[in-house]
Amino acid sequence: MMLGSDVSGLSAGAGATATPGLSIVVPVFNEAAGLEALHRRLGALATTLRGRYGIACEVVYVDDGSADATLSIARGLPATELDVQVLSLSRNFGKEAALLAGLDHARLGAVLFMDGDGQHAPELVEKLVGHWIVDGYDVVYTAKAHRDNEPALRRAAVATFYSLINWGARQKIPEDAGDFRLLSPRAAAALRQLPERNRFFKGLASWIGFRQFRVDYEPEPRAHGFSTFSTAKLIGLSIEGLTSFSVAPLRIASLLGVVLAISAFLFGLSILWETWVSGKSVPGYPSIIVGMMTIGGVQLLMIGVLGEYIGKILSELKARPIYFVAEHSVRRAATDAEAAKQTAAE
Ligand code: UDP
Ligand code: MG
Repeated sequence: MMLGSDVSGLSAGAGATATPGLSIVVPVFNEAAGLEALHRRLGALATTLRGRYGIACEVVYVDDGSADATLSIARGLPATELDVQVLSLSRNFGKEAALLAGLDHARLGAVLFMDGDGQHAPELVEKLVGHWIVDGYDVVYTAKAHRDNEPALRRAAVATFYSLINWGARQKIPEDAGDFRLLSPRAAAALRQLPERNRFFKGLASWIGFRQFRVDYEPEPRAHGFSTFSTAKLIGLSIEGLTSFSVAPLRIASLLGVVLAISAFLFGLSILWETWVSGKSVPGYPSIIVGMMTIGGVQLLMIGVLGEYIGKILSELKARPIYFVAEHSVRRAATDAEAAKQTAAE
């Protein structure tokens, strides 16, 4: 019985595959204000990519239950330079679910993920595609060139998060990497095969392996509106990512247990020493209270950590779908031949 998976049929470079194309997945949540402008930039990108590498493009807009006009605007976007798919999820499922919905519906082999708020410049995509087609990389990911403009506390939190999640991991998740990345056909196929419901895209995209390449970039300011990820939400997401991806918190629990047990043993020895050798009676009250509070606190914390993992097991067991598609449309860009026929008829 084969328990691994062979995705080698889909080779790294587009030149060697039967379906040389790029699906651009864009999750959009209340992005009505900037969608048309983004679509124009993607159209220009598609033209450039077709001219330079001869690949076809499609864009997959995943409307993640927006409350504004995002969906109706997306429905009306012209499919002139590239095919346009519009998926509308039945409610707001969150960015991770929207990315997966896009990945599941992408049709052209390679897949590129980018935000719909203009922070991920379509102009950079040409460079990413070059690393895929020319250099043969499978996962081309972007990472923030620096974090100089962020407060020290946030930088420290990020560093702690990555050192925890990468603790003992064979394949380290690169620090500062974002969701803006390109996957070759075989890497996309590999990512589609991961069955978990609690998804941490950055982690999974790195976990699959293959040839990975880092491109440093400076994210642009949001084209309009505000980020949906507040500090509290980011902390929540970090706990989510950490517990769905790594068992480091559980290991910390075990290590803390060991440290506490050793210190209790040493403390006990020191008490024995004091009573036997110096004949002093050790005052008990403060040490008992401190000991109880330490152990009680640590135990509660670790029960919480265990609870996080049990919650994950529960949601994996329930095996609910990660998203529901309420509406789906595909519009194909007219091929050159069709366009020529149309002009001739006019
Ligand atoms: N997004 C989404 N569902 C959500 C929240 C955000 O699809 O529940 C999309 C959003 O439209 C954008 C991308 O995810 O295209 C990144 O969101 P945002 O700009 O708010 O996050 P940040 O850039 O601060 O990480
Ligand atoms: Mg953003």
